[in-house]
Amino acid sequence: MTIAENTIAENKVVTLHYKLTDNEGAVIDQSDDGSFLYLHGAQNIIPGLENALTGKTNGDELSVSVSPEEGYGEHDDSRVASVPRDRFPADGEIEPGMQFRAQSPEGEMDVVTVTEVSDATVTVDSNHPLAGVQLNFEVKIVDIRDATAEELEHGHAHGPEGHHHH
Ligand code: ZN
Repeated sequence: MTIAENTIAENKVVTLHYKLTDNEGAVIDQSDDGSFLYLHGAQNIIPGLENALTGKTNGDELSVSVSPEEGYGEHDDSRVASVPRDRFPADGEIEPGMQFRAQSPEGEMDVVTVTEVSDATVTVDSNHPLAGVQLNFEVKIVDIRDATAEELEHGHAHGPEGHHHH
């Protein structure tokens, strides 16, 4: 089987324009200059979006609605906890929306988001902020190229000047 040069498949680096909205139409995230790129087949992006992009070609535009199961998972109520206020630093305000690193009962480091604050307790949620959210992507494919050996070894795409986060 021959895969055309400009078709999205494993080991291709894909550059996208995208806009992500929730079901109310609020913009959650968007690429502002088309510089979002990822390595296809390396689970760099959520499975629902990656699957929808397989086989698409340069210039294609698509709308993809990704369910929580194929996105950041369902919201798990057992990951919401009330923590005594005195477990937080005494100096400084604790406000809804603030994020802290915390150790889960399994010993993993989680990012928790403060959802409610009272005098005695702070309610924290260690679900991903987009857990339980239907994700609606508007995507335009602007470039497809072969990954370099270095990108394949690292398991992620490198930017135009080789800039990347590790
Ligand atoms: Zn790298």
